[in-house]
Amino acid sequence: MSSFNFDVITLFPKAFELINNSGVITRALDKNLIDVNLHDLREYGEGSYKQVDDKPYGGGAGMVLKPEPIYKAYESIRKSPKCKTLLMTPQGKVLKQKDLARWSTLNQIIIICGQYEGFDERIRCLADEEISIGDYVLSGGEIPAISIINGLTRLLPGTLGDPDSLVDESHNSSLLEYPQYTRPLTFKDMKVPDILVSGNHEEIKSWRRRKSIERTLARRSDLISNENFKKSPQSKRIIKEYNQLMKFRIGNGYDIHRLVEDRNLIIGGVKLHHPENLGLDGHSDADVLSHSIMDALLGALSLGDIGKYFPPSDEKWKNADSLFLLSKVIDLIRQDGWEINNIDSVLVAERPKIMPHIKIMKKNISEILNIDENLIGIKATTNEKLGPEGREEGISCHSVVLLEKK
Ligand code: SAH
Repeated sequence: MSSFNFDVITLFPKAFELINNSGVITRALDKNLIDVNLHDLREYGEGSYKQVDDKPYGGGAGMVLKPEPIYKAYESIRKSPKCKTLLMTPQGKVLKQKDLARWSTLNQIIIICGQYEGFDERIRCLADEEISIGDYVLSGGEIPAISIINGLTRLLPGTLGDPDSLVDESHNSSLLEYPQYTRPLTFKDMKVPDILVSGNHEEIKSWRRRKSIERTLARRSDLISNENFKKSPQSKRIIKEYNQLMKFRIGNGYDIHRLVEDRNLIIGGVKLHHPENLGLDGHSDADVLSHSIMDALLGALSLGDIGKYFPPSDEKWKNADSLFLLSKVIDLIRQDGWEINNIDSVLVAERPKIMPHIKIMKKNISEILNIDENLIGIKATTNEKLGPEGREEGISCHSVVLLEKK
């Protein structure tokens, strides 16, 4: 008796000759690790014509498999306690690697293959699970059954030459496998990546892991964006690694300060003059441009907002020069290898005119951030006398930054 039995109910047993032609399965059959018992549905057919199908009630195209032959075939099979019955149908749950792994702990699987237009509905209650091999329709359940026999057999102990080859495989950890190469080193000008011949096993491991994640994102991001994956134990680690791999992050920041008397009006490090002698109120110098850029930078890396780093409750930041605070924030951003790709800001102020000062604002910000002035966009607009900016109750600023991992 083999350690794993497949019992297949089929109208086309000949289709299964294919399985004895493939390396791993043939070896498993030879080693008696599996047995594939074919139950020819025709033998259980009705009457002298051994009828197995009939026209559908209610009319419609094609023929439907009758229930009696399938039941008879099913009842003739000896069932072990660790047995499951699978019904092949395009209406079933789509087969996943984890299903094969789950079934590999059983010792018997009964597979029912449909044909023609399908089977009588009353067959369904024989099945523990209804399985589809994909969202397309084949003419019979034989190819789906062979897929299951093949995929499951290679998971059984003793079937694969090297059991380690199962470990990193696509779909085992929700990730696709990394690129594989074998000799020759160079083929048609395509060279094997240097890292794989470096002999540095730690680096090879991390390269492969990175490629796995990149590949999955490029080809099958659905595998790691779905809810099931998010619940899995390895998801946190993979999402963290993915975030580390991401080359770009975008952030947006917004700030508004009240216009009051007896305060300076400082924007982008430039001291402006308001016609009514108003200035911006705040704990620090209330420079809305620098503040919104800081928030955008922190936001891009999900680091929170400026209040977290320079709390208004802290005396240290009273009347602080916001350009100095900005220099602290950019240090934080660069710590992890991020660099500014560009910044785009828009100031909203009714008065004074901002335009004449933009050049020097850009210069100040570019010096503090140590980036080229061309990477900084500063625009100004009035609010058409609408809202708090329009009524000159305050001045606000919006900023967007794009960070790039260097
Ligand atoms: N009319 C049926 C399909 C019949 S196809 C329907 O719409 O549901 C004939 C048989 O092929 C099915 O009974 C089933 O056993 C098999 N089959 C076809 N496509 C399949 C798939 N994607 N997965 C599993 N079995 C499939």
